Amino acid sequence: MNNDIIKNLITSGESTGMMPVLFVGHGSPMNAIEDNEFVLSWKELGKSIPRPKAILCISAHWETTGTQVTAMQRPATIHDFGGFPPELYNVQYPAPGSPELAYEVKRIVNSANIKLDENWGLDHGAWSVIRNIYPGADIPVIEMSLDWHLTPRSHYNLAKELAPLRKSGVLIIGSGNIVHNLRMIAWDHVNEPDYGFDWALRANEMFKNLISNNNHKDLINYSGLGKEVQMAVPTPDHYLPLLYSLALKEENENISFFNDKTVMGSLSMTSIMIG
Ligand code: ZN
Repeated sequence: MNNDIIKNLITSGESTGMMPVLFVGHGSPMNAIEDNEFVLSWKELGKSIPRPKAILCISAHWETTGTQVTAMQRPATIHDFGGFPPELYNVQYPAPGSPELAYEVKRIVNSANIKLDENWGLDHGAWSVIRNIYPGADIPVIEMSLDWHLTPRSHYNLAKELAPLRKSGVLIIGSGNIVHNLRMIAWDHVNEPDYGFDWALRANEMFKNLISNNNHKDLINYSGLGKEVQMAVPTPDHYLPLLYSLALKEENENISFFNDKTVMGSLSMTSIMIG
């Protein structure tokens, strides 16, 4: 059955090459419904990259014991935030799921016993971004959780096992934020499109240099990169999706940055496309 599924994924769409991989800084949930430069980039992405047959999103907002993937036919739109305007809670993103792809992920990953989930759905780490890339909600989306018991190295190694999906027309998106310190948000600058504390800007530059130089070793061992990086990554949830995306980069592939700005002082929107 599984080989047939992959065959269908390969033959049912137009794209035959390898899909790019994205890491998207998702920022505020309001990006789901705002028109700003970050959202504009997301909309452009949907027009410029090959149309995927399915999407696998590793979201900062789903942490579990053991790795899970959503496996329902119709994933719910989860409004996993508080204190935002009603219009944000009214957003639905009715993209279908793909139990077949979920099963395929379970099959190809050997370093973890992936659990097929029927209860979660799409949290805003996934839908706030994907609804802007693919507003038609007509591409199946599954989400993968972050196992909070794994080391960064184990996350990275697990992600490498997802590589065959790229050749099957699956767009893999890590959704988080490289610099993400909510406790240090500059509340007097929240409405500015480009405002970062010096330490946040320096941390962002350090990360970009390591990414450009393919220094995945230091990126995996980020806790040893000094005080500014510790401030930028006070908890691993929003950073780990970056490691998933980087792990899928092949040696000679291009890497490009977009939405490379810092907002609210302590949150970078810096995003990458691989391939
Ligand atoms: Zn977030």
